[in-house]
Amino acid sequence: MRPIDSTTAIYGIIGYPVSHTFSPAMHNAAFAKVGLNCAYLAFCVRPDRLKSSILGMRGLGIAGVNVTVPHKEMVIPLLDELSREAKLVGAVNTIVVEGDRLIGHNTDGRGFVLSLKRDLRIEPKKKSVFIIGAGGAAKAISFQLAIEGARYIYLTDIAKDKAQRLVTLLNKNMPSCHAKLIPNEAREMERTVADADILINATPCGMKKHDPLLLNPKSLHSKLVVCDLIYNPPLTSLLKAARSRKLKIMNGLGMLLYQGAMSFYLWTKKHPPVDIMRRALLQEMRRSR
Ligand code: NAP
Repeated sequence: MRPIDSTTAIYGIIGYPVSHTFSPAMHNAAFAKVGLNCAYLAFCVRPDRLKSSILGMRGLGIAGVNVTVPHKEMVIPLLDELSREAKLVGAVNTIVVEGDRLIGHNTDGRGFVLSLKRDLRIEPKKKSVFIIGAGGAAKAISFQLAIEGARYIYLTDIAKDKAQRLVTLLNKNMPSCHAKLIPNEAREMERTVADADILINATPCGMKKHDPLLLNPKSLHSKLVVCDLIYNPPLTSLLKAARSRKLKIMNGLGMLLYQGAMSFYLWTKKHPPVDIMRRALLQEMRRSR
């Protein structure tokens, strides 16, 4: 990394908490590789300080930030403009500073789909996708899957009303894709898996060692692609079950990587050094375990 001096451009991530984030390691490695005089920090921003932090970005001349939980939605009224994705999803994970204007983007959904395409060589077009969990991450990836031509998106969540709201939003905004609510019951979910090409865990279930399996592993058919948005641990019990049945699997590391690569490009207009960024993430993950 170049020494920090009076001309260093400051980037960062704002969240609460942020102590767990791997983004500084990933972005600082990328800045160093490309030879940019930039530094990326983690800012722990309490929700009641979000407004003053965003005003402070302008005041201090912060060059750009990522936004993470719990600020992705609350930050929107504080920005000047939103990208199409951020508008659709109603959440922002990247703020780009253009002169005096703050522009909100959302690269989470595209990050997931890029990982699917590049890491697994799977195209979402015409696919049926079953997503378990209907929170912020599911919202971002379901819109992007719909944009990229997925034919059916099945959604379930323990909070039925949350899944129903997302189904309604998708059907209203993405008429080429059919979204359907699936009851969060074993038989209904197993029946849906049988119809799906891609299964995605978009819940935190699987982060802890003794978390229950979301589905009976016998329901995972031989052509199913199984994705988990969790990246730490790298192999959740769902992914282990799928791997033991020799299915194509993918964890959330690629989503984290490519959403970051796209933020890097939005900020610097430079080609992101994806291999270096991936290596930094893997190193950071090993260090955290
Ligand atoms: P979130 O907003 O809390 O959404 C998760 C949803 O799943 C909630 O509605 C939750 O319901 C529901 N849920 C929990 N357990 C469930 C179960 N057993 N069956 C069905 N639904 C269940 O979280 P998020 O921000 O969307 O994140 C979801 C996951 O994606 C997390 O593991 C997160 O770490 C991961 N993620 C990864 C990346 C990446 O870059 N790889 C990015 C973002 C998120 P309740 O709220 O009622 O519990």
